[in-house]
Amino acid sequence: MKVKVDPDLCTSCELCVGDHPELFEMKDDVAVAITEEVSADMEAAARDAADNCPAGAIIVE
Ligand code: SF4
Repeated sequence: MKVKVDPDLCTSCELCVGDHPELFEMKDDVAVAITEEVSADMEAAARDAADNCPAGAIIVE
């Protein structure tokens, strides 16, 4: 699984960073995925982050 943040949609609320600091960090005022490739044990966390992002900015595929 891959995860990424659309910087044009991210509103910098920092929810994903607070809930999943192992997956996301803030960079230049938007969230970014720390590593695009998500390991199997982190897939549920990545899906959770995508489901909870109020801006729909987190893409998992
Ligand atoms: S939860 Fe969504 S809108 Fe909020 S910082 Fe993360 S990617 Fe941006």
